[in-house]
Amino acid sequence: MTAHQPKPLIDSFGRQISYLRISVTDRCDFRCTYCMAEEMTFLPRKQVLSLEEIERVARIFVGLGVRKIRVTGGEPLVRHSVEHLIANLGQLNGLEELALTTNGSQLTRLADSLRAGGVTSMNISLDTLEPDAFRRITRIGELSKVIAGIDAAVAAGFPRLRINAVVLRGHNEDQILPLTEFALERGIDIAFIEEMPLGQVNAAGKNLELVTSDEVLETVARAHTLETADTQQHSGPARYHRVSGTATRVGLISPHSNNFCSSCNRLRITAEGRLLLCLGNEDSISLRDLMRAGLSDEVVTEAIRDALTYKPERHVFDRPDEPQILRFMNASGG
Ligand code: SAM
Ligand code: SF4
Repeated sequence: MTAHQPKPLIDSFGRQISYLRISVTDRCDFRCTYCMAEEMTFLPRKQVLSLEEIERVARIFVGLGVRKIRVTGGEPLVRHSVEHLIANLGQLNGLEELALTTNGSQLTRLADSLRAGGVTSMNISLDTLEPDAFRRITRIGELSKVIAGIDAAVAAGFPRLRINAVVLRGHNEDQILPLTEFALERGIDIAFIEEMPLGQVNAAGKNLELVTSDEVLETVARAHTLETADTQQHSGPARYHRVSGTATRVGLISPHSNNFCSSCNRLRITAEGRLLLCLGNEDSISLRDLMRAGLSDEVVTEAIRDALTYKPERHVFDRPDEPQILRFMNASGG
């Protein structure tokens, strides 16, 4: 710490912000049914933060005590020159973890440069090992490309790799064990995610096809001996169990059945540069507008501190009396 180190970011509930997720694009080369509509209108490019603006925001937040940044999207790896952005973020003084969430489609091309650029951990989404089901869920994705991408990432030697699988009733709950085996064979982690009610799906009043994390855990535990595993520093809301005698941990992310807000240490920046205080809440400020108005880092920092006083205590997905969230997941970064 230097003598000029600014005060850390602490919200009204005493939670210190150490983790920032940045959506670098709302665009994607897939159209997963739980995330996007089939026909999407994406943001005009000039409304999206430039790579320089993203770097500036990241640098400000790292100066305020953020130690982990996750780059996400949309699909972050379809953003032109994203590997240069990553390499610049990897140089930020004070940043301890640079993470990425991707659908894996571009990894055969980019895994080595991302690793060289300083990415320390990567989550790769994969909901099924069945090509037809993969096509139904992603609408346009190609399973073989993603599997080749995951293998390229394993070969590139990232310190931590995790498969992310959203479990959908009637679509892929039969894949819980095959996906666990897939992760075990590669010595990487896997996290199963309960579907969250975002976007049009919910506005249309569709019943949520929820497979709970408890159900997932029972399924895995029938085939494997599990031990409770340590959670890492700055880790997200996953609760981990190690498959006994292996390097693989099985994570459960349960926005419905386990409220993780009390330990929430994160903020999000949307592709348009809105600072979101909570995934389940619409309060935000536009850092893009502040930067494009020519304001200094000091003024932007004060605006961030003011905004933080509005970070809510908990998210509201499950409360029928609260308005539901109609923002697509790709715009805010999952
Ligand atoms: N395109 C990248 C990918 O798919 O990994 C990064 C962005 S994506 C929005 C981030 C994560 O959010 C993915 O693991 C995805 O499966 C998950 N996700 C998207 N919509 C979701 C939803 N409605 N409920 C739960 N998880 C969701
Ligand atoms: Fe694209 Fe990821 Fe959303 Fe699927 S989950 S549509 S890959 S952003």
